[in-house]
Amino acid sequence: MTAKAYIDQVLAETKEKHAGKEEFIQAVEEFLPTLEPYLNDHTEIVEKNLLSLIVEPERLIQFRVPWQDDEGKWQVNRAYRVQYNSAIGPYKGGLRFHPTTNESIVRFLGFEQIFKNSLTGLPIGGGKGGSDFDPKGKTDAEVMRFCQSFMTEFQKHIGPDIDVPAGDIGVGGREIGFLFGQYKRLNGFSAGVLTGKPVSSWGSLARTEATGYGLVYFVQNALEDRDDSFQGKKVVVSGSGNVSIYAIQKAQELGATVLTCSDSSGYIYDPEGIDLELVKDIKEVRRGRIKEYLEQHPNATYVEGSVWSLKESYDIALPCATQNEIDAKLAQKMADAGVKIVAEGANMPSSKEAIDLYQDQSILYCPGKAANAGGVAVSALEMAQNSARLAWTFDRVDDELKSIMKNIYTACSETATKYAEKDNLMAGANIAGFDRVVQTMLSQGLV
Ligand code: NDP
Repeated sequence: MTAKAYIDQVLAETKEKHAGKEEFIQAVEEFLPTLEPYLNDHTEIVEKNLLSLIVEPERLIQFRVPWQDDEGKWQVNRAYRVQYNSAIGPYKGGLRFHPTTNESIVRFLGFEQIFKNSLTGLPIGGGKGGSDFDPKGKTDAEVMRFCQSFMTEFQKHIGPDIDVPAGDIGVGGREIGFLFGQYKRLNGFSAGVLTGKPVSSWGSLARTEATGYGLVYFVQNALEDRDDSFQGKKVVVSGSGNVSIYAIQKAQELGATVLTCSDSSGYIYDPEGIDLELVKDIKEVRRGRIKEYLEQHPNATYVEGSVWSLKESYDIALPCATQNEIDAKLAQKMADAGVKIVAEGANMPSSKEAIDLYQDQSILYCPGKAANAGGVAVSALEMAQNSARLAWTFDRVDDELKSIMKNIYTACSETATKYAEKDNLMAGANIAGFDRVVQTMLSQGLV
């Protein structure tokens, strides 16, 4: 069977088995076809049917989370963990608390995570999880009770050498702190069971900053490779959460002007450059809405709707909010605004049609599984520090992060050059990430 026929067969089987799980099918559809040139050179993968093995998670756990709100009302949410692939290490990947979380979303995130983690070069397998619980509008006490109930069940399935979760949308330092506290209460102090912990509970310095900083380091490498830099560039960022805030900070430090940030209601456009201290205060301290930015910057503009409909010209787009925030129509608007690089801080923010448009219009596309790998990379460094009972300095972690992002960029670019063309960083990321996992799976036999 040819590589192409084999890929088509696995895709058709996956679509049939998972009808209705749109995000999961989208992730698999974006991934498998890019492997064709690699499979042409590695016929053993076709012979051993390894694509069917890799699209199937090792384990999928679903459980209910009962908790009591401040009025004394009993509530229940649904939670998931997909333990996708442990060939190269314990399952590793974040937890998402957002009302849209479902099996399809968790599967797509877990599938992507396998290859992202592989690209870091560190010993971490792929997993992901979360719940349809919405922390927005809940009191600290409600969030704590939810986290304690979540962990009471979840602790049966995780451990420092088994599965090491971290944060994602809706799960930051506050939630990880509560989850860690409950794990400790049930099992004793075991720092290596979660990452993204508060620094006082053995969290790593620079973990909070890592995904956003790493994203900008990835783009910096791509720019330098083309004799260019961030200096003087106009950057558009979506979101105003963890990834966005630290991407904005690093891009500004490197001389760019960041024009926007957003939340799920609308976006701020500030031609003078986003006032990051204010955004941090609104989002991290007050847990407010981005519209409140106007109270202190009346010359900025607030627009309801997607930031990607912005008409003003800019050079670099950093989507850092959520999946499928950019469809073909919005991608065309980005092209019309003159964007040259799209680098994904979020997971799968661009639809397949949007990616096709970037590639047709020679916009350099930096896929999330490579460009946003800095967060999980520093999580793996947090695991290393916890094992060694050591705490590294901020600068040491940041230097390691820079070097990991450089290596990821180089791996993507060199693999793209070998199997596709230099600018096809999507093919480069997919093949380089897949190669390490699949060769390890082969060495471990049929397990
Ligand atoms: P946060 O919860 O800190 O922030 C999410 C931001 O995105 C908020 O501004 C939120 O706005 C916005 N957002 C969420 N859902 C939607 C939606 N449906 N439409 C429009 N805007 C939305 O999450 P993170 O910053 O941690 O994560 C952002 C993205 O980065 C996700 O795709 C995540 O998977 C990815 N990622 C995160 C990593 C990490 O280390 N945290 C690592 C790698 C990837 P609002 O407040 O209105 O909901």
